[in-house]
Amino acid sequence: MSIKLENVTKIYQTGEVQTTALKDVNLEINEGEVVVLLGPSGSGKSTMLNVCSGLDNPTSGVINIDGEIISDMNSKQLTKFRRNNLGFIFQQYNLLQTLSVRENVEVGREVSLDPFEVEDIIDQVGLTQNIDKYPFQLSGGEQQRVSIARAVVKKPKIMFCDEPTGALDEENAKEILGVIQKLNETFNTTVVLITHNPSIGVMADRIVKLNNGEVVEVIVNKNKKRASEIIWG
Ligand code: ADP
Repeated sequence: MSIKLENVTKIYQTGEVQTTALKDVNLEINEGEVVVLLGPSGSGKSTMLNVCSGLDNPTSGVINIDGEIISDMNSKQLTKFRRNNLGFIFQQYNLLQTLSVRENVEVGREVSLDPFEVEDIIDQVGLTQNIDKYPFQLSGGEQQRVSIARAVVKKPKIMFCDEPTGALDEENAKEILGVIQKLNETFNTTVVLITHNPSIGVMADRIVKLNNGEVVEVIVNKNKKRASEIIWG
């Protein structure tokens, strides 16, 4: 699925204070593309991801996903759209601690119309040996793999990843990015990935740089690299 932002502005109002988190952003993300959103803290990355994925409404402008204007949808329509089409991975794994790996992934499967098999996806993320373990028995990298499996099992068309490696060391981070890359290649899933680490940009098709709520640069990466080849900054 493609994503198109047209003149998207987001202003937060906190008491008397207005914060313009996104200023008139125009951007198109193509189906199957890996886009890295890069920018310093407070530059608007999370806001952009939230409005692109319907977690939050823009103050003005249009968000079009594959011809559907999600910025016009009501919350019921949005919930359905998100459930059927979008996957999310965050820095925190948000796993259910009393459920096993298999059961955590089943939770993701239950909400979908046309999901993958739980065992297949657990295999894809390399966790078959840990399928009956509980989150506390896993490393951070393994827990993040479970959260990826939970997001991917429902066959999302777009994966939104908000600092997915923020809590991981270099080795685990590269492995997780490799899993995301493989899913993109295997299923042509569109990937929008937020980071403040510029070195991750080498695995993207395009790097979108944000500053102060504005897209300040879009870099087309002609020499895309494997996640394992990233030289960590
Ligand atoms: P980033 O993800 O790049 O760190 P954010 O999108 O989280 O940036 O934030 C962009 C700006 O919007 C910041 O100035 C932040 O303080 C502000 N902001 C984000 N969310 C809210 C909110 N819910 N209420 C008020 N201000 C917010």
